[in-house]
Amino acid sequence: MNIITHDTGFLRKKARPVEKITDQEKQLFEDMLATMYSKKGVGLAAPQVGVLKQLIVVDVGSGPLRLVNPRITSKVKERSCMEEGCLSFPGINVKVRRSQHITVEALDCSGAPVKIQARSMMARALQHEIDHLQGRLIIDYLPWFKRTLVYGKLRKNLS
Ligand SMILES: [Zn+2]
Repeated sequence: MNIITHDTGFLRKKARPVEKITDQEKQLFEDMLATMYSKKGVGLAAPQVGVLKQLIVVDVGSGPLRLVNPRITSKVKERSCMEEGCLSFPGINVKVRRSQHITVEALDCSGAPVKIQARSMMARALQHEIDHLQGRLIIDYLPWFKRTLVYGKLRKNLS
């Protein structure tokens, strides 16, 4: 699948909740995972492949996770700061401060409710992908004085 890159406006749109998980969603999950692995990513959200549905895939090394309508239901105050990349912004790394430990509630691909207690890399990856469903991107975490620099770099990548 093609990954939408750069801040073109589409990635700013909010994804809609999925009401019914059909073969179409299941196939999309598999296509998203294949795309993510081929780009050596650890997570991918449906809007990044042009689908405005609340679906994400994550694999931080412990196997693939397919989540429908994921919600962060609790997060600890302790946060850590780490550089993150995004398949939609190749070549760009941004330091993002995120909660170290979160709880996510979602449906799995068979429609069963799941509750995930996530720490460290898993917590970070889930927060990054859930951000995508809200139209929030890593470049939003840049301090204002770095924004001009990074946007300049993005424009150069585009041309
Ligand atoms: Zn991303």
